[in-house]
Amino acid sequence: MAKFVYDFSEGNGSMRELLGGKGANLAEMSNLGMPVPQGFTVTTEACTQYYNDGRTIAPEIEAEIMEHLAKLEEKTGKQFGSTTNPLLVSVRSGARASMPGMMDTILNLGLNDVAVEGFAAKTGNPRFAYDSYRRFIQMFSDVVMELSKKRFEEIIDDLKDKKGVKQDVELAADDMKELVVRFKEFYKNEKGEDFPQDPKVQLMEAVKAVFRSWDNPRANVYRRMNEIPYDWGTAVNVQSMVFGNSGNNSGTGVAFTRNPATGEKALFGEYLINAQGEDVVAGVRTPSPISKLQEEMPGVYDQFADIATRLEQHYKDMQDMEFTIEDGKLYMLQTRNGKRTAAAALKVAVDLVDEGMIDEKEAVCRVEPKQLDALLHPTFDAEALKKAAVVGKGLAASPGAACGRVVFTAEEAKEWAARGEKVVLVRLETSPEDIEGMQVSQGILTVRGGMTSHAAVVARGMGTCCVSGCGDIVVDYAAKQFTLAGKAYKEGDWISLDGSTGNIYGEAVATVPADPGSGYFGRLMGWADKYRQLGVYTNADTPRDAKQAVAFGAQGIGLVRTEHMFFEGDRIKAVREMIVAENTEERKKALAKLLPYQQGDFEGIYEVMGERPVVIRYLDPPLHEFLPTKAEDIAELAADMGITAERLTEVVASLHEVNPMMGFRGCRLAVAYPEIAEMQTTAVINAAINVTKKGQYTIKPEIMIPLTTDVKEMKYVKEVVVSTADRIIAESGIDLKYEVGTMIEDPRAALLAGEIATEAEFFSFGTNDLTQLTFGFSRDDAGKFLGYYYDKKIYESDPFAHLDQNGVGKLVEMAVKAGKATRPEMHMGICGEHGGDPTSVEFCHKVGLTYVSCSPFRVPIARLAAAQAAIKNPR
Ligand code: ADP
Ligand code: MG
Ligand code: MG
Repeated sequence: MAKFVYDFSEGNGSMRELLGGKGANLAEMSNLGMPVPQGFTVTTEACTQYYNDGRTIAPEIEAEIMEHLAKLEEKTGKQFGSTTNPLLVSVRSGARASMPGMMDTILNLGLNDVAVEGFAAKTGNPRFAYDSYRRFIQMFSDVVMELSKKRFEEIIDDLKDKKGVKQDVELAADDMKELVVRFKEFYKNEKGEDFPQDPKVQLMEAVKAVFRSWDNPRANVYRRMNEIPYDWGTAVNVQSMVFGNSGNNSGTGVAFTRNPATGEKALFGEYLINAQGEDVVAGVRTPSPISKLQEEMPGVYDQFADIATRLEQHYKDMQDMEFTIEDGKLYMLQTRNGKRTAAAALKVAVDLVDEGMIDEKEAVCRVEPKQLDALLHPTFDAEALKKAAVVGKGLAASPGAACGRVVFTAEEAKEWAARGEKVVLVRLETSPEDIEGMQVSQGILTVRGGMTSHAAVVARGMGTCCVSGCGDIVVDYAAKQFTLAGKAYKEGDWISLDGSTGNIYGEAVATVPADPGSGYFGRLMGWADKYRQLGVYTNADTPRDAKQAVAFGAQGIGLVRTEHMFFEGDRIKAVREMIVAENTEERKKALAKLLPYQQGDFEGIYEVMGERPVVIRYLDPPLHEFLPTKAEDIAELAADMGITAERLTEVVASLHEVNPMMGFRGCRLAVAYPEIAEMQTTAVINAAINVTKKGQYTIKPEIMIPLTTDVKEMKYVKEVVVSTADRIIAESGIDLKYEVGTMIEDPRAALLAGEIATEAEFFSFGTNDLTQLTFGFSRDDAGKFLGYYYDKKIYESDPFAHLDQNGVGKLVEMAVKAGKATRPEMHMGICGEHGGDPTSVEFCHKVGLTYVSCSPFRVPIARLAAAQAAIKNPR
């Protein structure tokens, strides 16, 4: 018989898939003899079962939960609903991968009108008992019944006004009793029934709510962002309560074994005396640093510090721990590998190697490749920073430099960002609803909340700069402005944040690019390069991009898009002349004007890249992209070009395409107008000869024909290239080698790759087009419907961001095999957006590609991802 429920004592740390991260670690900590309140875990399989059973909990599973509940009652000597010694539990979600703040915890479950009296008698503290009860009603209503927390907060505020007090702590026992009455009344009004009094009903409803929350929109967004599969499900932990809010000898806190912002090795955290659960992270009161606990409760502090050290040594990684102190006794409520900034991730990984805890390969696997992004982006320009005035200071919650326009809501952030503006999101505090707005912001500034507030944790996870808890700020959401140091800032005004110091600047402060080659970053990347087997190239169209990419460790260029240079300066004129040409003669004349530009660009790139491979792709986009579409623009251009508007209108009309993505483009252009390929070949070969003649390096051009579908097509274009190239090389008198290859980006090319390889000397997978053409939808239009596909769980991720390994990947794999069967020595790469996506990089490693090519800023990410792929899947 399947087992769906495990006591903490039955589980262990390796049962993460079944028990979720939280459950597995609670079990592990109790096995290690640490003080963990007793409890049990309902497995992720029970969650899957819940969904399979049409969102109901099967009677067998419920029975099993009840058995474990009975055991818990026995172990704790407390009973559910007891009038003398009631058992109270927390119900906590816990997926395999930690999803912070995504699913809500219910505390103090088990309280009802009679148990609360028992609890008051037992603790001798009616205020505390009723406070616990009102908190429970609030949480249960919010999480299980979807009654907004805010409404309850309003009831509390109302009572505080009536009593003339400011803080919750100033409310007395009778006030708490009154709150309970009012809460229950409100509940009944809203729900049409009484607040559930049977603790077992409360428990089952709460378990269901956790299962349900696995599918809430917030969780779905988070999963998509982090590539967490939907079918994993979440576990539920039921744990007997301990009370950090039972008086001044109690408290609750969170701490890391190392500083999650910098990686510095020292206990780092915060706590609040006389507080419960989320109080620390919710930013209600400002917590004290953990170091203060050493003075306030030295015994507890020493015990905690000792446990922290043991946990770090046990898990061999920085731990993020939650603890509660009840009446001077310490309880551990959670431990997990702590989220950290990119800088901290590098330092911790390298330090752990130096401390002999892990080896280099393990260190390489410890850093999330995508995180590196945060380190590749600008910091403040030192000179500009000197001149800038600090107008306020908050906590340095997530490092980095941010400069942007003030916005006050996630919606505004998204709107401004969609217009290409940089924004800084300013909030009283953030909540999970703000995630998408936080994602598009350069920085986040909050008025309330500590280092472990929602804003701080999420920003660190995203690698976004965050300054939290700047209490001097007065926000007026309605007026869309905030005031700080006597000055008002409105929506759209510029501010800058330094997430490493907490400084706030009331102006735009210039930023400078970062240096990834040195320090911890340099050491870790050195190890990555040692273990990876995939080459990492870049997509670069200009010497400037090429230089940037080389600085980031690119070993070559996998894609030079020649047309990108066509738009610059005078070239566009020559391009347009070429397009309107009425015959080959005229077209050649226009192309002759383009030739020196192209050749100069290629020389510039060759000079930056030296002998590193450079793959140059021939003209790819449809020609109409170089012409205007609006009548007035056409008229203006015609006048410029000295032709009639009618003539130009005719050309534009003749080039019009219903579906340009599938139109007159790629090598079809070279088939129709071979003189274009001739000119491009002349430019490439001349550039290579000139740079080679300078004597520093020998250039070996790699010429790439786009969008091939057939070997005959490839052969035709290749002959144009070869005859032109060979003639120029013969005239030059130097022995220049070159290769002609193709992109595989049309499904037919993938199917016929074996034949195409008889002509093509190398392949590069253009997975953007290959994805579009395999799915039959375009990247530009897919945004309109992909949302529905995610909601309905038909697709779990964007196939343009993460390579569709099942479908598109199958074509890639086929083409690799067929190509190599024809031409075993041929090199193959990928140059679509996927080249910088870690899971896609792993796929490329597995199918045996030679290299991946991605944009310059993703080169370090791809290097690290390639190393992880090689360590996990040795070739
Ligand atoms: P999250 O995954 O959002 O961190 P948790 O399940 O860890 O949610 O619960 C949130 C907080 O609730 C914890 O930090 C802890 O302070 C409190 N909590 C959870 N279970 C208990 C318990 N059994 N006793 C006391 N406090 C608890
Ligand atoms: Mg937690
Ligand atoms: Mg393409």
